[in-house]
Amino acid sequence: MNEPDSTATPASSGVAAPASSALPPSISLIVPCYNEERNVGPLVDAIVGTFCPERIPCEIVLVNDGSSDNTSGALAEIAARDMFDLPRRHAPLSIVTIDFSRNFGKESALFAGMEAATGDTLCFIDADLQQDPRIALSMYRYLVSHDECDVVAAYQAERKEGKVLAWLKERFYAFFNATSDEIELPSDMSDFRVFTRQVANALLSLPERQRFTKGLFAWVGFNTHAVPYTVNERREGKSSWSTKSLFKYAYTGITSFSTWPLKILKFIGSLVAVLSTLYLLYVLIFDYLIFGIGIPGYPTLVCLILLFGGLQLLAIGVVGDYLAKSYVESKQRPLYIARDITRRTY
Ligand code: UDP
Ligand code: MG
Repeated sequence: MNEPDSTATPASSGVAAPASSALPPSISLIVPCYNEERNVGPLVDAIVGTFCPERIPCEIVLVNDGSSDNTSGALAEIAARDMFDLPRRHAPLSIVTIDFSRNFGKESALFAGMEAATGDTLCFIDADLQQDPRIALSMYRYLVSHDECDVVAAYQAERKEGKVLAWLKERFYAFFNATSDEIELPSDMSDFRVFTRQVANALLSLPERQRFTKGLFAWVGFNTHAVPYTVNERREGKSSWSTKSLFKYAYTGITSFSTWPLKILKFIGSLVAVLSTLYLLYVLIFDYLIFGIGIPGYPTLVCLILLFGGLQLLAIGVVGDYLAKSYVESKQRPLYIARDITRRTY
């Protein structure tokens, strides 16, 4: 495993050394990459082309999340480049690459990126160019020019996905906000954000293993300014989110921020117990004692037994999910393992 190299400089970039005059706050752009071999190069060029002419000190943190394609080779190629298309007087540019030992998921990649980032401000941006670096620049400008603002978050002005998926996502946010114990999650807000070092430190201080970043941003608080943006088409490849993984992510979100599923089970359990006792009393008192009717109906009994058996299993399942969550947390495993980290400054 390579040690991080913080001193390497390009051999012969042919560009002037970074200007030493007062520079604006630096930005670290954190890019989670899963099977993005053909996207990372163009993304890095787009970021460099956007931030460097503005003389903003810029660090690009590329996290290869155990891709099965050649993303790792693409990152190595970027890290080995001797020059970028930089203007003559440019602010420092750093490229950091982190290569995970396997696929740990986007949330872990974002966390690793934050840990490695050294910028005064940080930005989460996807590798597939669906989020334009020029929008990141305008978000950065807003953040640094508004003292009261800690986070600038982009939300999709219009959703480009199918109607069913958009409806399901809308329902998810409504359900999440109705049931969450402590936070309100604005709908449509993406992970595409620029935020201060203080916010990053707050996020890094949360030790949980199963992370739902949108919820964690809401949980740590701070002043958030929302800006609309239009998401581009993915440049190459396809989204790694299947319907199943979206449902799983939604379930993680709800169970990470709410104990409502446990409460509703308690409520259903109590309601069913009260109703069945009332029904039993009714049958015994009216049918049996007053009207003297023999009590027929074993099918009803079978149905009720099956219904309650099912309800009990469901309840045990949900309780088990919470138990499993605390089991996973109690193991305190790291969020990721990196097999290689490199850093290069231009
Ligand atoms: N990603 C990742 N690990 C994963 C899945 C995705 O780092 O296990 C990255 C992916 O490379 C991209 C970002 O997360 O930069 C968003 O993923 P994707 O484009 O597949 O999601 P969508 O834009 O469809 O929501
Ligand atoms: Mg995408």
